[in-house]
Amino acid sequence: MAILERVLDFFYPRFCICCKHPIHLPTLGYLCDRCFKSIVFNNTTCCACCGRAMGTQEGTICQNCAELKPYFHNGISLFAFNEVGRHFIHTLKYHNGLFLKKDLQKLLLHEKEKLSQWDSPCFIPVPLHFMRQWKRGYNQSVMIAQALHHVCGGKITPILKRKINTPSQTSLTRKERKLNVKDAFMLKVKTLDVNKTYVLVDDVFTTGATLNECASVLQRHGVKDIRVFTLAHG
Ligand SMILES: [Zn+2]
Ligand SMILES: [Zn+2]
Repeated sequence: MAILERVLDFFYPRFCICCKHPIHLPTLGYLCDRCFKSIVFNNTTCCACCGRAMGTQEGTICQNCAELKPYFHNGISLFAFNEVGRHFIHTLKYHNGLFLKKDLQKLLLHEKEKLSQWDSPCFIPVPLHFMRQWKRGYNQSVMIAQALHHVCGGKITPILKRKINTPSQTSLTRKERKLNVKDAFMLKVKTLDVNKTYVLVDDVFTTGATLNECASVLQRHGVKDIRVFTLAHG
């Protein structure tokens, strides 16, 4: 840690975004070491499709993916949606989370080996409708895509547009979520290299309806290698 940062920390201590305790010389900038250690990275057996930890489920894909019939064939989800994971994502998404940029990179670096399975992919952040992005001031999926690009290389290709300002998925059932995002996305470009690996990037994988709708747009335009990345599965 730079000397200036230590001095600033002395006069203006930072507080953990999860437990709210003051933090000194942490591994991450805004999460104390105790909370950082509570992050459960999905590095046991994971669903080959969405990347969630499989727990006691057998087979290579989870029950949800078996029902979803996704247009993507591979995915990584970084950590469990436990208390700390949820706090991190909620702060990133709803509390001007731009200050978490460096912490995001450090969390991805923690799982660099897992991420190295991708060979120069094109990262596509799941777009917000422009009205929602204007209100929030940023898109958290773009921040995650930038962190992925920083850690894994590849390119950021924001080629999708959300043409319908769909209501939040939070309180909807599985069926409603699917209907809510139906035809909500379109391709912004006339041509795309269909032989590239495209990784759709979002904050949370819940039922996968949004990511699958985005993947269906790519699939209709001839892309064969479609994958997904989410910070957590919840
Ligand atoms: Zn803490
Ligand atoms: Zn799955």
